[in-house]
Amino acid sequence: MVEAHLNGVRHAMAAGWRVLEHGGTALDAVEEAVVIMEDDECFDAGRGSFLNREGKVQLDAFIMDGATLRGGGVGCVERIANPIRAARKILSESPHVYFVAEGAERFAEEHGIPLCRNEDLVIPREIERLREFQKHTAEEKPELFAPAISHDTVGAIALDRAGNIAAATSTGGTLNKAPGRLGDSSLIGCGCYADNQSAAASTTGWGEPIMKLVLAKWAADRVAAGNLPEWAAAESMNYLKDRVNGHGGIILLDARGRFGIAHNTPRMAWAVKTPEKEDTGINRPR
Ligand code: ASP
Repeated sequence: MVEAHLNGVRHAMAAGWRVLEHGGTALDAVEEAVVIMEDDECFDAGRGSFLNREGKVQLDAFIMDGATLRGGGVGCVERIANPIRAARKILSESPHVYFVAEGAERFAEEHGIPLCRNEDLVIPREIERLREFQKHTAEEKPELFAPAISHDTVGAIALDRAGNIAAATSTGGTLNKAPGRLGDSSLIGCGCYADNQSAAASTTGWGEPIMKLVLAKWAADRVAAGNLPEWAAAESMNYLKDRVNGHGGIILLDARGRFGIAHNTPRMAWAVKTPEKEDTGINRPR
């Protein structure tokens, strides 16, 4: 599915860029980019996500504004096709930062986001994937298999004309997860973070190790300390591996437009656009 992933990130980048080009905010840009990937069945976000062990899609998402430090997150929602839209509503229209499960769905509905059925988010490819996985793990401990599973969480980071940065992350979590399990993606500072004074970051990978290190904030703090995002991104992957034997990937951007992309998995699809150039890849950036 390499081509599908490359096309997916390219479309998301184009959607985010359109917002910025028209003078929109980084916050709007990351939201629009993530919506495109949630709607794209090849990723583990929105429809087409990995299924939990009961065969349901359960989604987490977080969005953060580097200018104000406002954030909005949802966890374990089952009836929202675009959880990042709900997260954005929380950021913009609620004094709270998080809503989970039914409360999040109620909040979304009350704020004009239509609910869907969980079955609408489930696709045959994932029913088959779960069946295969459960067959193989019937006699083993499922957590032993976690490192071998692919990760397809989506994320976006952006810098706008006003000099503000933002980040957004959305996921269906890990395959065969226990119902109610929350990953790193929607946890502030773990799977997503943004502060104009440090950096915007979005991570993917095996969530439990990532959250133990509060990895997005860890990387942003390295940038605030004067390191280049390129270095901090690579270093965060070394830290993840060395400290907790984790694996994943990160995108990192500061308010001066300097960025880093790194992963310690064999592949991670990424796309980047600046006024000067655009680039897409699935292996480590050149
Ligand atoms: N980090 C996500 C989680 O553990 C999974 C992923 O990145 O695909 O929920």
